[in-house]
Amino acid sequence: MPMTHDDPLDLSALNPEQFAAVTHGAGPLLIVAGPGSGKTRVITHRIAWLVRDQGVDPGRILGVTFTNRAAREMVSRLRDLIGGLQARQLWVGTFHQLCVRMLRIRPELAKIPNRFVIVDENDQRQIVRRVTTGLRLDPRVYLPKETQREISSHKRARLTPAQFADQTQTEYDIVLARIWEAYEAEKHAAGALDFDDILIVGYRLLAGPASARLFHKKFLHTLVDEFQDVDDLQYDLVRGWSEASGNVAVVGDPDQAIYSWRGAGAHIIDRFREDHPTLSEVELNTNYRSTQEILDVANAVMLPTPGRKPRELVAVAPNGDKPRLEQLLNEGDESRFVVEQITTEERHGTHQPREVLVLYRTHAQSRTVEEALLRESIGYRIIGAPRFYEREEIRDLIAYLRLIWNSADQVAFLRVVNTPRRGVGKKSLLALTQWAAEHDRNLIEAAMFAVDRDASSISPPSVTRRAANGLRRLLEVLDRAREIQQEQPLAAALKYVIEEIQIREHIRRVHPEDAEDRWENIQELLIVAERYSDLPPSAALEAFLTDVALFSEVRESEDEHNWVTLATIHRAKGLEFPAVFVIGCEDGLLPHARSISEDNTDQIEEERRLLYVAITRAERFLYLTHTVTRTNSGPARIRELSAFLTEVPDALLKIRAVDPQSGNRGRAAERVPRLNGAESSPDTTVPGDRVEHQTFGRGTVIDVRDRNGDTEITVQFDTGNTKHLRASLAPLAKL
Ligand code: ATP
Ligand code: MG
Repeated sequence: MPMTHDDPLDLSALNPEQFAAVTHGAGPLLIVAGPGSGKTRVITHRIAWLVRDQGVDPGRILGVTFTNRAAREMVSRLRDLIGGLQARQLWVGTFHQLCVRMLRIRPELAKIPNRFVIVDENDQRQIVRRVTTGLRLDPRVYLPKETQREISSHKRARLTPAQFADQTQTEYDIVLARIWEAYEAEKHAAGALDFDDILIVGYRLLAGPASARLFHKKFLHTLVDEFQDVDDLQYDLVRGWSEASGNVAVVGDPDQAIYSWRGAGAHIIDRFREDHPTLSEVELNTNYRSTQEILDVANAVMLPTPGRKPRELVAVAPNGDKPRLEQLLNEGDESRFVVEQITTEERHGTHQPREVLVLYRTHAQSRTVEEALLRESIGYRIIGAPRFYEREEIRDLIAYLRLIWNSADQVAFLRVVNTPRRGVGKKSLLALTQWAAEHDRNLIEAAMFAVDRDASSISPPSVTRRAANGLRRLLEVLDRAREIQQEQPLAAALKYVIEEIQIREHIRRVHPEDAEDRWENIQELLIVAERYSDLPPSAALEAFLTDVALFSEVRESEDEHNWVTLATIHRAKGLEFPAVFVIGCEDGLLPHARSISEDNTDQIEEERRLLYVAITRAERFLYLTHTVTRTNSGPARIRELSAFLTEVPDALLKIRAVDPQSGNRGRAAERVPRLNGAESSPDTTVPGDRVEHQTFGRGTVIDVRDRNGDTEITVQFDTGNTKHLRASLAPLAKL
């Protein structure tokens, strides 16, 4: 994956400021500089310079990166620069990795067990649940996941349960402190540490009494990348590592601070300045990544930031094309545009799929892009997230639909039986599966016998009363959903399942940290289901499940090295790609509706920085896309271009807009040839035509295109709904 292209250590390839930073002598060093100015490169080169030219023991150099991926990348660069033998001894990693490494070496210094285990979030939740019930408290009031989250945030504020209990008045919090205490005791008994412990205990190792200060003196040099996103506890770790030597080099960019919701933020840079009054500061003013045309747009996006010291990015790269601002009709068109562009450019030899990065604000937006890529058989990877149809909540819901379609589907049954929790324990499940095998029945039938014990002569599977109740509820949901599915559009059945099983509450409980993202994925799945509303019920479900199965197929044969990369903007830190698409540049998405509705300037400014981070990933080609309408699970709504982009002068962009009158593209001077011949629509229906559908009533055609040999007609119905209908199937008449 392209990230940074460092050459073998050649200090003459550095500009004077970079050179000064790389070869800076002793003492603290702060580099605040814009994207693409070589901050990460300075860190890597400085480490290499220290080892190679200054003979510093690599085992006494510590470098902190933001993600495991960035750490791997840095170590691999360093291997090229100083050789594998030396690179292996370096301490380069994330805060967690580095702390674990310290703790593994001298656990006794931190008073933790020799072979401590690390509990992940799942284990944590289970411990919380256990101790909550152990204290005879109701886990429905003290929800394990929420309790765990609260405990975590108090721990990161470095409180103990007792201190927390002293500070608080509410009864809830006093009970929380008791759960917390019991949680710590159980972890302690098991010789386990959670993620917060790792940082906290790691810090204790650094700040403890002199005798325990092994690591306090160990590191002669500490270097930190992406410093703007460091939080207070992490800051203290940096201090602990570097206090004795005084040699600490940090690089960051306040304009790229995008983790303030985690308590990080640009204030940390001020704190560093205050704590190190003698620091040297280096500015890097040249951008080596992008063309000036791209930087001009980035500069214009940041210009209106309140209270920001104007800082212009200046390129060394030769001039390039103006970034394109493309308006598309809807999200389907948007994704098709992205993929057509990728294919055209591959054909023209401009860039390969692997040189393309597609960025979006919310995870759910990946779905349409993924489908468009799959349709053209272009491989892709998503950084830091599963593919859409592999996401947990999507698989859960699809399992329900699979069971509606085929009640013998065992895999689907086992997936949904306790999602959400229905109290069907391991023993009861085992009884069901054994019974099913013995009687040559499927699990649904087994469940029916278990629920309706007296109604049959066969002896039923022996399950607990609780399990029987849970199974009854599950069977009821499935029965009712099946009825709805037979009478109404597919989306109605799916909606019923979503509401009836209360999946939103379920994900809030199980995944509070990203419940909203997951809920957006579910809304997106509803949009997919609505596409099948023109088919008769049984055909709709079958077609839907077949399509989903095809989309989830893993294509082993594809050349992984030529995959397109997809990511949310949050995951794009530090990356660079020759061609970048930023999709969904609309009010409501970027800035996200959550930040607008709260009308909080800080949050809106963070959204602006997100767009800035996205734009500055691009080396040569940048496409910003936005749509006229976007299907939400209600009626399609008219969208506005992101306010951040309306502030950018038109002259900086190559703008192309849709003509809302006809649904055709207006200002199509440089129109892109369509690959699927989609513009060669049949003479029968054209955008603007008035039509009538048997079920949906009257509407206006807004788009017509070829889809796998059939014609897909997009109609905006007068009720406000937009539907994509297949001409060969839909009962549609021209008026
Ligand atoms: P970001 O803020 O996005 O993390 P950054 O400041 O860390 O950016 P780098 O990723 O280190 O920037 O550098 C951007 C690109 O410019 C990389 O490909 C890097 O190799 C290249 N680069 C940096 N300095 C020079 C230089 N002096 N000569 C040539 N290329 C350079
Ligand atoms: Mg960087």
